[in-house]
Amino acid sequence: MSELTYPYEAPASQALFDRAAAVTPGGVNSPVRAFRAVGGTPRFMVSGTGPYLTDADGREYVDLVCSWGPMILGHAHPEVIAAVQDAVARGTSFGTPGEGEVALAEEMVARVAPLERVRLVSSGTEATMSAIRLARGFTRRTKVVKFAGCYHGHVDSLLAAAGSGVATFALPDTPGVTGAQAGDTIVLPYNDLDAVREAFRAHPGEIACVITEASPGNMGVVPPADGFNQGLKDICSEHGALYVSDEVMTGFRTSRAGWFGVDGVVPDLMTFGKVMGGGFPAAAFGGRADVMAHLAPAGPVYQAGTLSGNPVATAAGLAQLRLLDDAAYAKVDAVSKEIQGLVTDALAKEGVAHRLQTASNMFSVFFTDRPVRNYEDAKAQESFRYTAFFHSLLAHGVYLPPSSFESWFVSTAHDERAVQRIADALPAAARAAAEATA
Ligand code: PLP
Repeated sequence: MSELTYPYEAPASQALFDRAAAVTPGGVNSPVRAFRAVGGTPRFMVSGTGPYLTDADGREYVDLVCSWGPMILGHAHPEVIAAVQDAVARGTSFGTPGEGEVALAEEMVARVAPLERVRLVSSGTEATMSAIRLARGFTRRTKVVKFAGCYHGHVDSLLAAAGSGVATFALPDTPGVTGAQAGDTIVLPYNDLDAVREAFRAHPGEIACVITEASPGNMGVVPPADGFNQGLKDICSEHGALYVSDEVMTGFRTSRAGWFGVDGVVPDLMTFGKVMGGGFPAAAFGGRADVMAHLAPAGPVYQAGTLSGNPVATAAGLAQLRLLDDAAYAKVDAVSKEIQGLVTDALAKEGVAHRLQTASNMFSVFFTDRPVRNYEDAKAQESFRYTAFFHSLLAHGVYLPPSSFESWFVSTAHDERAVQRIADALPAAARAAAEATA
């Protein structure tokens, strides 16, 4: 089969999807995998090597999702696999402390200056949930400020993005989250410091923390405006609230010290996941030693996990982090830039209005002619063009996120051959985007 003549059908994936739908709601274990935003059959992947994924029908794709961020060295990196095999051979979980978790924590603390203490958990959701509990326990306050369009995992109180006005009290986004759970969440428009100041004025002494994606990637890539993160930090400090920087996506991806390494704003608490787990379920939260000292068993705020600091997950994460030196980041940044250039050139050639936005090597394309500064702007894009663009690339062996509200991710493994595949596929995809109708 030639690389660029893929039939559109995916019979083996379809058969697996049908089987999955009989035993799993919607046929998937995380909603966006189901292709609902773009339509069609989700591809069931059977293996990954370097920048490529191979699906159940035997077709190979250049992967621009990288497991939603973690696979920054590409798939099945030999040194990560060797570390995992070595760890697995010694047993998979002990329920006791182990050296691997200490080594991973040490590596993280050494890279990220504000991270004085760190607690390992198993998912980004757990990390943000625990950080918020700790912020509330530490400040003895109840309210939390978050921004519309920022995703912090499926924490009940954070599943509220509604309302873009000043200090709008959040309505739950999903059945199952009660008004009480969302009622202490204040949702504000992103990149709007005046709205934050107003919320603090309206709720004196009540706000425990402001949580924000260090640089948002969950409404597409919408970086903080100059001074926004520092402004958040300053407002929090002035009012005795904690500034919680969610680096689950950006951590150890946007630089060796994550987004902190880019803007240098010092959070009180930080959350991590994705890259630090090397493709396994490992995540973390941490920050100021005096705040973290409130966490059990050192302090009164309870938090725990049967598989926290799992020896296989920590071995994978540590192996990956140790390979992520300056040269590795330079490589990811360079290939990201190259692909960004190809995408804008192809779309410009077809006259398609678009904005390509970046946060170091993270990027995404919005089909709009206006800058995207917040969730309202992101929602104003012509998503139907993304659908056409996505399916054309998929048919030509390039795997994009199946939603226009997601960041694209690349890895050190994206080499010339992979980039060429993308370059070859882009003209038809740009044409498809140009010709798409709502
Ligand atoms: N925070 C951010 C910024 C994320 O992007 C995500 C997941 O995409 C999470 C938290 C939740 O992480 P997890 O999916 O590991 O629960």
